[in-house]
Parts: sequence; structure tokens; C-alpha cells
Amino acid sequence: MSGSPAVVMRLVASAYTVAEKAGAIVRKVLHSGELGIVEKTGANDLQTLADRLAQQSICASLSRRFPKITIIGEEDLPDEEVKEDLIENGHSEEILQKTCPAEYSGLKEEELVVWVDPLDGTKEYTEGLLDNVTVLIGIAYAGKAIAGVINQPFYNYQLGAGAELGRTMWGMPGLGSFGFQLKEVPGDRRIITTTRSHSNKVVTDCVDAMEPHEVVRVGGAGNKIIQLVEGRASAYVFASPGCKKWDTCAPEAILTAVGGKLTDMHGNAYRYDANVKHMNSAGVLATLRNHEYYVSRVPQSVRQALKTD
Ligand code: AMP
Ligand code: MG
Ligand code: MG
Repeated sequence: MSGSPAVVMRLVASAYTVAEKAGAIVRKVLHSGELGIVEKTGANDLQTLADRLAQQSICASLSRRFPKITIIGEEDLPDEEVKEDLIENGHSEEILQKTCPAEYSGLKEEELVVWVDPLDGTKEYTEGLLDNVTVLIGIAYAGKAIAGVINQPFYNYQLGAGAELGRTMWGMPGLGSFGFQLKEVPGDRRIITTTRSHSNKVVTDCVDAMEPHEVVRVGGAGNKIIQLVEGRASAYVFASPGCKKWDTCAPEAILTAVGGKLTDMHGNAYRYDANVKHMNSAGVLATLRNHEYYVSRVPQSVRQALKTD
């Protein structure tokens, strides 16, 4: 490689290690037994000590290294000094060695927006459905998700004591996705993954309209994208507001880097500029293949209920 690495590659390389640190924090809080649960908008919208500490760690670590980037995190936290032991200074050398796609090689720090979900699947975290939990760091430029890192802190937890927990996946359209084995659902089976804790009639009507062979109800937006890229689901269908930009930015980058697509229920792309509305009001439809088929199956009643704004 010639010259110094592109800013965006340095950011992804740092985000990788920062996400690992956040994953370690998420595990540590669980093992402490003191989750510090707070309800945000209601009983299905929770925040724990792990969400708070992981966000502090991610935002403080990245902004110290990249002071000019815009970072938008899910949690509303008081503006206080972050403890030094939460700061991560490392980076992934392997990512730094990759060649940045030409179209992103000249990007400047101040042009990048980072969307942070410090703990996706908090409800499941509090219920012990630990493989549903992910840490999401998405990077956007000109409204598009151009890189993403997903840490899954409890990957392998079913293997019991002694198993090494956690893994990190990352991806960048134009470069590829790494940290997992890409797999497709075999044959033409339509396996739909959707929410397990934020359902309603519109959500289930829309899933039914896809004429699924099987429905996989699991928590977390990050986790559902993992289902897609590892061949356990063919479409992620969530016909409801509720998912936010920090839920979809990193997953969208990893999914699109392997040829998939994430849109609203009308098939329109979301934008990730710093000033956009946080809510993905027109739902989330994500697929590895055959996106148009799933868009075409969305009933008129659902399209009506989820107006694009
Ligand atoms: P789920 O598929 O229900 O696990 O949701 C994926 C992501 O969207 C999680 O971060 C949820 O917290 C968020 N989400 C979805 N629906 C809602 C809702 N009605 N209220 C709050 N958060 C939601
Ligand atoms: Mg989330
Ligand atoms: Mg969260």
C-alpha cells in the first residue's frame, strides 16, 4: 500500500476495536448482575447500564481520535467526563492494510457521520436471549451507509463455560464483508425474520403477505441482518416505525457489501445524513436477494399505514 491509509479506513479500523471493547463492557455488566434497567418510552423500550457505558466508551473513544466526525448515539446521556478505563485506543491492523475503494479514499473526517447503537436488542439482553445482542457502529457519507461494524458479544454462549465469547463482523460496499461466512437460504424457501417484541397487526399482516415457508422471530436489527447473511432467513420484514437510523446503518453497509439491500417497505432507501429524522418511519425491509419480489408483496393496507415522509 502506498501513502498513509484513507481517513475512512482508519475510522473503520478503530471502530472495529472500539466495538470489541463495547462488547466486553456489555458482557461485564451482565456478569456483574446489576443491569440498572431504566424504561425509556415504555416496558419494551429499555436502557441498561451496559447501553450507557458502551455508548460512552464508543463515542468518547472515536471522538478523541477523530474530533471532526459527527457521532450520533442512541442513548441520551448527561454530558459528563468519560472514565479513562472506558477509552479504547487500538485499531485493527488488518483493516488498515485493506485498499480503500477509490470513491471513498479522499473523504474527510468532517464529511463522515457515525451512527451508534451501543447495544441493540436490549430487551433480549435483559431476558437472557444473549445471541440476539449486538453493538452497531455505522459510518455514512453523503447520506449513504458506506461502512459498518457489528460486534456480537455473546456469540458462542450456548457452548457453555470455556467457550470464547464474541465476534466482530465488518463490511464496506465496494470492498466486501468480513468476519463471517456468507451463506444463502437454500432453494427458493422464503424464511422471514421479524421482531419478537414489537409486533402488531400490520407487522404480522405484512409477514403473512410474503407467504413465508417459515417465520423466525428474533430480537435486534443487527441480529436479523446476521440471520440474512448466514443463510437462516431470506428477508427481514418489519412493517412498523420503531427502528432508528442507528439500528440500520451498520447492518445496511454489511448487507449491501455482499449484494443485499435494505429499504423501507416501499422499496425506498433511507438516508443517513447528520440532520435526518432518527426514526425509520416507513418500516424496514432487508434481503440478500430478490428484494423486488418482497417489495411487490407488501399489501396496499401496509403501504397506506406506513407513509413515506
Ligand atoms: P426488534 O426487531 O423488535 O428487536 O427491533 C429492532 C430495533 O428497533 C431495536 O433496537 C428496537 O429497540 C427498535 N424498535 C423496534 N420497534 C420499536 C418500538 N416500537 N419501540 C422502541 N424501539 C423499537
Ligand atoms: Mg437497536
Ligand atoms: Mg440500543
